[in-house]
Order: sequence, then structure tokens, then C-alpha cells
Amino acid sequence: MAEPSESVPLHLRDLDAIEMAAALAPFGVTLDVSRRVFAAVHRDGVSSMVEAQPRVRGLSAATARAIDRQAIWPTIEIVDKRQSADGFVKYLFRLPGGAEIEAVRIPLPDPDVARAMRAKRAENENSLGLVALPTAKYTVCLSSQAGCALACDFCETGRLGGIRNLDTWEIVAQLRHIAADAELPIRGAVFMGMGEPLLNYANVTRAGRIFSNPAGPAIAAKAISISTAGVVPLIHRYIREPAISFGVLARRAEQFRTRGLDAHRKTMAVARVDSRDSRLRRLQSTTRDHRVRDDRGRQRVP
Ligand code: SF4
Repeated sequence: MAEPSESVPLHLRDLDAIEMAAALAPFGVTLDVSRRVFAAVHRDGVSSMVEAQPRVRGLSAATARAIDRQAIWPTIEIVDKRQSADGFVKYLFRLPGGAEIEAVRIPLPDPDVARAMRAKRAENENSLGLVALPTAKYTVCLSSQAGCALACDFCETGRLGGIRNLDTWEIVAQLRHIAADAELPIRGAVFMGMGEPLLNYANVTRAGRIFSNPAGPAIAAKAISISTAGVVPLIHRYIREPAISFGVLARRAEQFRTRGLDAHRKTMAVARVDSRDSRLRRLQSTTRDHRVRDDRGRQRVP
């Protein structure tokens, strides 16, 4: 077998499962073995194929060395981490080149415990008072861009310069660092950090495919959301992509009071285009939820 050209860097952290299989095929790596490599890269977070090789059945030491001669493993750096009293943890990451982005780890209770608590409250058991439910898992709020071109009036990110899309691996690395730092599993991800995720469509959706792969972080697709200010042509694109099954949410209510309002109205229009599509129906009901409540939870005119 001729060894692939070493002039093109092989960036495995930037690839979804299909892309990784294609990239490793020239090294003689079969589809089954490439799935195990995917798990080593995206679930275990290895930093070289030689490190991965003992746990990747079917990958010879010689092939691992050949891949490593071509592979690159860049990373992002945690520069600050702050935990608030309510259990939220905010991370500040530095990207190669110096730009900084934020991500947040959000504690979630066990849904069964939360349901039982709601049921007790519904029975007027006021003696319960305010009780903090124990954390059972986390979801993460991730950045998709450094800076943001939409510049919503209330948002600090929109005032930053140096706007650029994050590469897929830079998005995935936020999750990897947070997961490595967490004592409980990460069960959800939402693109609601810095940036408008639909303006970084290819890298965000690729990151979503990596997150939801059972061999990788294994976050259920339905627990992955893209929170958008309402970039209409890209919402159209999303709802026509058959391979993407995670959700799109409209931006939270307070954003609609300013520049996001028009975008939100357009989102509603898109959601009405074809209600035969189940994903469109979900999008419609999601946007309706946002529309009927203002930031104080009051009903608004639909
Ligand atoms: S879209 Fe989001 S990140 Fe961008 S300026 Fe608006 S609120 Fe900020």
C-alpha cells in the first residue's frame, strides 16, 4: 500500500464519521476500524493515533505511526472558569490566534425527580418551599463564532471585532474540555453562545453530527439545538437537509424586542411554508412558544 501524501495535514478532530472513514481509507483502515478511531478521537479525546492504537482493535502500530506522520492535533486552551452559586459553570477559551470564546455548563435535574416535584406542587404541597433539585446531568451552551456580525443591540458579542467562524474542531473541543471537567454526563448541547450558528452552517451541523454519533459523545439528536436569530435562507436549508435531525429554536424572547424582532417574524413566515413537514411543525410550535411570552413571561399578541 502506498502511504498517502504527507503534504496535506490530516485533522481527525475536524471530521465527522463519514469524512473520517474516507480520510483513513488510503491508510488501509477499514470502515469498522475507522468507527473505533472515531470513538478514540471524539469520545476518548486522544491526542495521537499511537495513543489510540492499544484501544482500537484492528489498527496496527505501523498504521497508527503512518497516520500520526500526517496528523495534526491543535487544541483550545481554558483561560478562565467560574462557577456560580446555582451550579452554572462559565468557561472562557482561547483559540489559536488569540480570540476568546465562552461556553457554559448548565446543571439539570433528573427528569423523573423534577416531574415528581411538579406533581407535588400541583397538589398544593406548599410546605415544600423552594427546593434545589440535585443535579443529575449537564447540558452545554456552546459558541459557534468568535464575535458576531448580527450585532443585536443588547449583546456584548456583537460589539467585538475579529469576527470569524469557529472550525468544527473548535466547537467540538469546547464540549470535550467541559466533559473532561464534569463529574456527571453531558446529555445536551445548545448553540446559544457567541455567534449566530446558522451563519457557520457547515461547521455547526458537522459538530452536531459528531455530538450525536453513538460512537462519539452520544448526545441524543433531539437534545441538540441551534438557537438562531432567524436567518431565513439558512432555516430553509436546514429544514430541507434530510440528514440533520437536531432542532432549531428561535432566539429567546428578549432578543425579539430589538433587531431580532423582524428576523423572528420572518422565522414565523418560514415555519408556515409547509406544515406537512414534521420538523417544520416542531419549528412552528417552538417559535409560537417564544412569541406568546415576553421576557417577563406575560402573554403577547400572537
Ligand atoms: S445573534 Fe446572538 S451572539 Fe450575535 S449579536 Fe445577537 S445575541 Fe449576540
